[in-house]
Amino acid sequence: MSDGILPLEAEIRRLIARAGPMPVSEYMSLCLADPRHGYYITHDPIGSAGDFTTAPEISQIFGELIGLWAAATWRQMGAPENVRLVELGPGRGTMMRDALRAAAVVPGFHNALVVHMVEISPALQARQRRTLDQAGVPMLWHSSFEEVPPGPLIVLANEFFDALPIHQAVKQDDGWHERMVDVDGVGNFAFTIGPDAIPLFDKAVPPALREALEGDIFEWRPDRPALELGRRIVREKGAALVIDYGHATSALGDTLQAVGAHSFADPLATPGMIDLTAHVDFEALAQAAESIGANAHGPLDQGEFLWRLGLEMRASSLKRHATQSQIYDIDAAVTRLTAGGRDGMGRLFKVLALGHPSLGELPGFET
Ligand code: SAH
Repeated sequence: MSDGILPLEAEIRRLIARAGPMPVSEYMSLCLADPRHGYYITHDPIGSAGDFTTAPEISQIFGELIGLWAAATWRQMGAPENVRLVELGPGRGTMMRDALRAAAVVPGFHNALVVHMVEISPALQARQRRTLDQAGVPMLWHSSFEEVPPGPLIVLANEFFDALPIHQAVKQDDGWHERMVDVDGVGNFAFTIGPDAIPLFDKAVPPALREALEGDIFEWRPDRPALELGRRIVREKGAALVIDYGHATSALGDTLQAVGAHSFADPLATPGMIDLTAHVDFEALAQAAESIGANAHGPLDQGEFLWRLGLEMRASSLKRHATQSQIYDIDAAVTRLTAGGRDGMGRLFKVLALGHPSLGELPGFET
């Protein structure tokens, strides 16, 4: 750092000086994943000392239920002798640890598994290796999903898609313009609007949103990760479970948010030092995977999904061997994972499953 300027801030200023305003997606991508200064490369963001907490860090029950879901899905696939259990963006490795421990009760499942962890951050990869050193199943690490070798697979992704960069477009009288980041008159980063309308963009906006008013914002992510997931599921047989915060049907609005030290912050203020995320558009994700032949199930609210998987029974059985203060903690965690409203994750977070068409209804999504 020099002159109090963050290294990534200096880099973004240089890029803007050279090439003009940059799309929000490029800004978000640099902030999160710049190979030297990106937030996920330089930080361990999770947990009480980090910037935010995630469901697997709130209670072991979360990962345990996801592990049982994976094992039930494996049986529905015909219990193949070899299956890749893939996790996208595994954070500290807590969910995988709890999932493997719980799923050990399902005969044959552990023996069929190779676990593939897809993690962009070297620091978090190291953390995951420590968390999982007693897991007792073969494990491999990759920095992208494309590196996972072909074969039947079950993919888990909790709070992964929200960290992938979004584009934003702003409705103007002559069409939709890309939202950009520029340097304003007093030298601060500020949002601006690209000079030209994006050609034919009206066709890319879902029909229900085409009546947008001037100033409305539409967000989208490149389809590639969802298409790749769908392609693998269809070609090699498998399923995926995507858990994230977002909306079940495509909607208008600016959802880009920055969170540092467990509170909201200005997304443009300290690039590379805080987490940037945006809502997941589950309708767009499901449509991309369905467009190449995968079946989409849900999305269900996280609370509903966890109840269906047996959250209540698991919590009661943990409480049977717990002290009074542990019982209090278990109840508080269950409430946090399932409640609606601002403080609960139960309604804001959604769960979408993707599956090979031959699998029919997947566990938890039975109608
Ligand atoms: N699933 C974890 C962590 C969520 S945070 C949990 O629930 O606790 C997002 C995770 O995705 C982090 O591990 C981050 O390093 C990883 N990540 C972000 N962008 C990524 C990318 N493009 N490829 C692979 N991993 C990525």
